Amino acid sequence: MIRKLIAIALFLTAFATYGSVSVKALKQVYDRELQHTTLLTQLFPADLYVDNDPEINAFTINMFNEIIVNTGLLDNARNIHEVAFVVGHELGHKEFYHMGSNHRFEYQADQRGAYLANASGYDVCKGIKWFKGLPNIESNTHPLASDRYRRLAKIWSCKED
Ligand SMILES: [Zn+2]
Repeated sequence: MIRKLIAIALFLTAFATYGSVSVKALKQVYDRELQHTTLLTQLFPADLYVDNDPEINAFTINMFNEIIVNTGLLDNARNIHEVAFVVGHELGHKEFYHMGSNHRFEYQADQRGAYLANASGYDVCKGIKWFKGLPNIESNTHPLASDRYRRLAKIWSCKED
């Protein structure tokens, strides 16, 4: 299923590869994970945008039913599993219809993201290493990256390397 907006995004960034992950690979992750989301999310899938922004970020705007992934995130990801976890996390925000962000929402989206990545054939333990590349800073909206990693690593029985 190719939606119009990602078709536009793909056109603008045709064949672009950021770091180890191409826009095409990102779209494949998104389409795979969508198939494991709730029926409501499948019926009204969010439009996926790739924004040419160096900031390492992805976010969901439920009011507009959009998920935005910055090129900075693709640049910074070490492998497809990390991207799969992040995209799953954003789909989690969409499924729970989170407006805004707080620690509880982030943990909830983390768990859902890990589930969706795993269900789609990606490696959760590799995926959550994403947190190890982030600055370990707590904010009002986001818990410490190390706490987020630890919770998921425990649930998914990831071995420390
Ligand atoms: Zn989030």
